[in-house]
Amino acid sequence: MSDYDAIIVGAGPAGSTTARRAAQAGLRVVLVDKAKFPRDKPCAGGIRHFVTELLDFDPKETLHRRISGLALFSPSGFRVDCVPQDRSKPGYTVMREQFDNLLFQKAVEAGAETKEETRITKVDQQLDRVVATTSENETISAKFIVGADGINSIVAKELGFYRGWEGKTAGVAIEMEAEVGASKVREICGEPGGYDAELLLLWFGDLPNGYIWCFPKRSVLSLGAWCRQDITQDIRGTFNKWFAKFKAQYSIDPEIVSDSGARFPIVPAEEIAKGRALLVGDAAGFVDAFTGEGIPYAIHSGIVAGSVLKDAVKDPRLLSNYREQCRKTIISDLMVSSSMASLFYKRTKNMETLCQFFRDDSYANYLIAALLGGLLTPKAVKTKLTRRIVRKRPGAAVSLLV
Ligand SMILES: Cc1cc2nc3c(=O)[nH]c(=O)nc-3n(C[C@H](O)[C@H](O)[C@H](O)COP(=O)(O)OP(=O)(O)OC[C@H]3O[C@@H](n4cnc5c(N)ncnc54)[C@H](O)[C@@H]3O)c2cc1C
Repeated sequence: MSDYDAIIVGAGPAGSTTARRAAQAGLRVVLVDKAKFPRDKPCAGGIRHFVTELLDFDPKETLHRRISGLALFSPSGFRVDCVPQDRSKPGYTVMREQFDNLLFQKAVEAGAETKEETRITKVDQQLDRVVATTSENETISAKFIVGADGINSIVAKELGFYRGWEGKTAGVAIEMEAEVGASKVREICGEPGGYDAELLLLWFGDLPNGYIWCFPKRSVLSLGAWCRQDITQDIRGTFNKWFAKFKAQYSIDPEIVSDSGARFPIVPAEEIAKGRALLVGDAAGFVDAFTGEGIPYAIHSGIVAGSVLKDAVKDPRLLSNYREQCRKTIISDLMVSSSMASLFYKRTKNMETLCQFFRDDSYANYLIAALLGGLLTPKAVKTKLTRRIVRKRPGAAVSLLV
C-alpha cells in the first residue's frame, strides 16, 4: 500500500501546477521541496499573457508591470521597438518569490499535502510503486513520482532519464535586482508615446548566443545576461562592462538587492515519461532556446501531467500519454524556437541582419510583436518570417544560411 497517489518533487511553477491539478482531480498528492516557501529563484520574471490564460486563478496580486512589447538593441547599437497594435494580450513581470509562492499556496488550497525543507536524495522504482528517500532518511511511497526539481533533477538522474545537461544543451545566466525607484523604472523601460505600459529591453551581440536584459518590476530592475554554456566567455565581465555604460547613460548608482546565477536547459529531454515517473518543467528541458523562457512551459507541462496522472491512477499504462501530449504542444513549439535560435545566434552578423529587417520591414516587426503578445504561434511566426525575408530581402536570407 502506497502513502500517496503521487509524489511531486519540486514546488516551482511546474511542481505546484502539477500538484494543484492532480489534487483537484481527487488524487492524494504530496509536494516536496528542499526550500521553505516563500523562496526566491534567479529569474528575470517576464511572463507572456499566455501564462495568465493557463492559470485557473487570477495572479494579479503578483503582477508588477504590464508589458506591451520589446525593445531590441542590435549588435551595432540601434534600437528597434516591437509593439503589437492589438494590446489586448499584454505580458507581465513578476517577482518569483511572490509568484511561485502564490502557485504553491494554490496547490495547498486544492488539497495537496506539502513537505518543505525536505530534500529528496534517492528514488527507487518498484513494480507497483516508487519510494523516495529524504536527506533525513525518511521514505515516502506513491504510485507515481513527478520530477519537477529543475535542471539538476534528482528524479531524472536516479531513474536513468539522463545524466545531466552538458555542452550546448543548457544556458548559463547571471541575474541581479537593482533598486532604482518606480519613476526611474518608467523612464528606462516605459513605452515611448505615453502608453501606460513598459517594454522588455534586450541587447544582442555582446554574447555569442544569448543576450543582456533589463526587465522592469515595480521599483526594481532585473538586469542580467545569459549565454549557451559551451561558448560563453566571461559572462560576468561582459555584463559588468555593459552595466557600467548603462549606469552612466541613465545617471544611476543603484543598490543591488540580489545577485545570483543559475543554468537552464535549452533542449527537451529525449525521455520525459518512463515506468512510474514523469518529468515536468526544467527537469524535462522545457525552456525556449531563443528567448530563455521556461515559466509558460513549466505551467503547461504541469497541467498536462495533472490530467495524465488522473487517468494513470486507474490504468498505469496511460502515463505514457504524457509524452504524446507534450510532443504535440510544448515540444513542437520548442523545436520551432530552437531552429529560430540556431539561425539568429549563428553569428553576430545574423543578429544584426535580422534586427535591421525587424526595423525596416513593418510586417516583420509586427510578427515579432505578435509572437510576444501571443497573437501568433511560434510556428506561424517562423513560417511567415521566412517567407517574408525570402521575398523582400533574398540576399539577406541567403547570407543568414551560409
Ligand atoms: C537567470 C534566469 C532568468 C530567467 N528568466 C526567465 C523569464 O524571464 N521568463 C521565463 O519564462 N523563464 C525564465 N527563466 C527560466 C525559468 O526560471 C525556469 O524555466 C522555471 O523556473 C522552471 O520552473 P520549474 O518549476 O521547472 O523549476 P524551478 O522553478 O527551478 O523549481 C524547482 C524546485 O525544485 C526544488 N528542488 C530541486 N531539487 C530538489 C530535491 N532534490 N528535493 C526537493 N526539492 C528540490 C527547488 O528548491 C525548486 O523549488 C529564467 C531562468 C534563469 C536562470
